[in-house]
Order: sequence, then C-alpha cells, then structure tokens
Amino acid sequence: MTGLAIDNVTVTFGATVAVDDVSLRVAPGEIVALLGPSGCGKSTLLRVIAGLEQPASGTVEWDGVDIGARPPEDRGFGLMFQDHALFPHRNVADNVAFGLKMQGKGRAEREARVAQILELVDLAGFGSRQVDSLSGGEAQRVALARALAPSPQLLMLDEPLGSLDRSLRDRLAIDIRAVLNELGQSAVHVTHDQDEAFTVADTVVLMRDGSVLRHGSPQELWNDPQTAFAADFLGHPNIFDDGAELGGPAGPAVLRTEAITFVAPETADSVTGHVSAVWFRGDHFRVQITLAGGQQVLALSPAAATTGDQVHIRIRPDGFSHLSD
Ligand code: ADP
Ligand code: MG
Repeated sequence: MTGLAIDNVTVTFGATVAVDDVSLRVAPGEIVALLGPSGCGKSTLLRVIAGLEQPASGTVEWDGVDIGARPPEDRGFGLMFQDHALFPHRNVADNVAFGLKMQGKGRAEREARVAQILELVDLAGFGSRQVDSLSGGEAQRVALARALAPSPQLLMLDEPLGSLDRSLRDRLAIDIRAVLNELGQSAVHVTHDQDEAFTVADTVVLMRDGSVLRHGSPQELWNDPQTAFAADFLGHPNIFDDGAELGGPAGPAVLRTEAITFVAPETADSVTGHVSAVWFRGDHFRVQITLAGGQQVLALSPAAATTGDQVHIRIRPDGFSHLSD
C-alpha cells in the first residue's frame, strides 16, 4: 500500500495554467491539506484526483496503479464539498446510507454502518431527522458521515467548512481530524484558511499560482516558511527586509512571535521600546512595539498592555529564519 501518487500534473483552461507541474503524495492514513489563496488551483487539482478533470499531462496513481483513465465512480474515492447538497426530502439515515446502497450493501449492514458512522460524527440518534431541520454544523457532519460511510480509499474535502462561522469552523476542524484519525482515513483537505490547514493536516501543501511552493508538517512550514509570500500567508506578522537590524541574519527574514518575550526589569540582552498598538484577541493580546531604532515588532502577551508604555523585550536569535525574497 503506497496510497496516492501524483506526478507532474498540469491542467490548462485556454491560456490559463490552473495547475502547473504538480507532484504530490498521500500515504495511507495521512491527512494532506492543500492550502493557498483563491484561484491557485486547489479545486482543479482535487478534481484531477477525483477523475472529474483530465490533466494536459502528468500521472495519477493509486497503490502503484495508473488510474488516470478510470472514471470517477471506479476510483473508490469520496468527496465532500462546501455546499453539502444533502438530499433534502430524505432523513439523515437515508442520506448517510446513499453510498452503501450504491455499493449494493444489504439493509442490515447499511443500518449498522449508518449507526456507527453517526455515532462517530457525534450525531447518534439523528437518523430519523429531516435534513432541512438541521443546523449548518449538523448538516456538515451529515455530509461528512455520508462521504465516510462507504469507506472510501481516499476522502477529498473541498473547503468543507467554508460556509460556517469562525467558532463552529474551529470546532469542526478539530472533529474532522479526530474522525479521520479514528478511521485511519487517507484524506486531501482543501482550504484557503491557514488555521484550518494546521488543525486538520499531518502535511500541508502550500500552493501559489498553480504550483506547489512548499510542503511539510505544519511546524516545518511555520518555523521555516522560506519565502515572504509563505510567511505572510501563514500569518507571520514579523517579516523584515533586513533581519540584521534586529539582531538576526542579514537580508529578508521572518521573526516568529514565540521568540519574543517581555522582561522586567531590563536585562543585558533586552531591547527597549514603547507599545504603539494593542489588539485584544480573547485568550491573548497582540502588542505592537516600536523600538528605539524605529523598527516595529509584534509580540503576543497573556497580559494587557497600554499604548505608550515603555517595555523591554528579549528576542531569541533562533527565532529568525532567512527568506529568499
Ligand atoms: P482554487 O480552488 O484554488 O480557488 P481553482 O482550481 O478553482 O482554484 O481555479 C484555478 C484557476 O483555474 C483559476 O484561475 C480559475 O479561474 C481557473 N479555472 C478553474 N476551473 C475552470 C474552468 N472550468 N474553466 C476555465 N477556467 C477555470
Ligand atoms: Mg476552490
């Protein structure tokens, strides 16, 4: 078992190169997030994997077998979209059982599997509910259950939480990861949201303009984004043209917020500045500090700070990493 292997896939629409020479692996049981801004080719790549789009060149293999010529229904993959498109006039259990029926499973086996999957997505007892009586979050759980019920070899999720509000999205992202891990389910999760990608995935594939810019674990990408675009897209607030001004490497550099600590009183290795802005973020404060030399850094603090206050911060030298542009 080697899972999914995509090599040198290119997709064009007229003059638009939607996917540009992309190679990708998804190991059995691995959750891979395709992350990138709108229009960078995530959905197109997913459609190639699903067999809904034919690439201009490149190969798609499952467990070492070329499946490029197989129609979508013969690939054994599952799909879940933002617009979950549940069957409106059927109840939850019938929706979840749909793929099992298509597989020709008998009634007893279907009912057992539906009950098991509904329990897994935390909807035990919801089987007889009409789908139009569900909240947005419940409907997305039903859509997830429906996609998982037939035990797809690979589950593809395209912005599955895009239509939900922030707090529900955060919770469901955690639940999706737990459910996929519990089943040992291989999955490709498309999102433009860095928080969601970090929460759900083992491996994040960052895309830009049809190409893969970077791939690795969430920690690898965060600690060493390598380009200013990646650092910015991943949410780093401290990106400098010249890290040397702050005691880091010469040239473009990112400074991770977790490498900045407040100290009081000042120490031999601290620098002094004043608070120039503060944003309350619920469980922490984002504190903008203007240093004596005029440079601005953003630090996270559990305690409140007041604009104008003098503060001393220590910047760990290993908190910097060099950027290539
Ligand atoms: P994403 O999912 O990352 O937002 P898409 O894969 O949907 O990006 O789109 C990538 C690029 O391909 C975009 O420029 C988009 O306009 C273009 N594109 C996608 N599908 C089609 C299509 N069926 N016809 C023409 N252009 C398309
Ligand atoms: Mg898309």
